[in-house]
Amino acid sequence: MAEFKDVVGHEQVIQHMQNAIRQKKISHAYLLCGEAGSGKRLVAEAFAKTILCEEGGIEACGKCKSCKQAESGNHPDFRIVVREKATLGVKEIREQVTGDVQIKPYSSAYKIYLIDEAEKMTEEAQNALLKTIEEPPEYAVFLLSVTRQELLLQTVLSRCVLLPFYPVAPEKIKRFLMEKRGVPDYLAESAAAFAGGLVGRAVQYAESESFIEQRNDVLHLVKYIDDMTMAEVMENVKLFASKKDVATEYLDLILMWYRDVLMYKATKNVNALMFMDELEAVSAQAGKRSFENLQGIVEALEQVKQRLKSNVNFENAVELLLLYMKEV
Ligand SMILES: [Zn+2]
Repeated sequence: MAEFKDVVGHEQVIQHMQNAIRQKKISHAYLLCGEAGSGKRLVAEAFAKTILCEEGGIEACGKCKSCKQAESGNHPDFRIVVREKATLGVKEIREQVTGDVQIKPYSSAYKIYLIDEAEKMTEEAQNALLKTIEEPPEYAVFLLSVTRQELLLQTVLSRCVLLPFYPVAPEKIKRFLMEKRGVPDYLAESAAAFAGGLVGRAVQYAESESFIEQRNDVLHLVKYIDDMTMAEVMENVKLFASKKDVATEYLDLILMWYRDVLMYKATKNVNALMFMDELEAVSAQAGKRSFENLQGIVEALEQVKQRLKSNVNFENAVELLLLYMKEV
């Protein structure tokens, strides 16, 4: 289980939690709200581990019996609610939470429940949980994590301390990938930029073969499209149209490339480039492409993304885009 020091970003949430621990004012219910991959689970686990630590500090000591149990994944006073179906029903909530919470903690001062994807609770389940949150045993702490808080009953929301998880700055994510995960500079840059502030997603990208492969495919296309014959361009159109399921990712990567070229052309700023490792190619493209041409490509890309959503004339749109890219 993670500790606070392992978390990238979310300083305000962690500060709130550490203050609560320091002042011994831990609330009974918290709502961790943010996108999938934003780090809610990691932070929830770190919070639980720290609350349960026998040393009572604002960082888990990592040495006491409680910390050891937490690390082995079977701390008797930390329960992760298990959901076996698409929704979490009242039966599961009764069995795993509201029935169980009446039993005192086994070895700690607290008993902590984590409900991941809490919006999957049925209304009946939420109402059952609500009764317990309204009058909880003093040792009980409920951690609810959600991506869409509007799916929870207002009555449940109003009982929880809301902790929002905002996107983490790409620079921080990049540093984390390089320092803690050993990801090479150029890949960390792209993965961090591509992850939309979600650390979990960035890790996935940086360590995924398909992301690296896509990045190479896109680089090959944008670097060599000027040297391609029309037949080769059409081959690329077909290839593209056949990979519709990952087309959004390809398009985003192509967009990043031309944004780099545009930015470099306008500012010569190297530090903000997402394809930093390809500076020579970026600079060459910036030299031969006009602002109008680059602007046109960016607009064509947006159009292809729209067409992708509506599912019509996708191949035509891709063809137009590639011709635009080729026209220098
Ligand atoms: Zn400890």
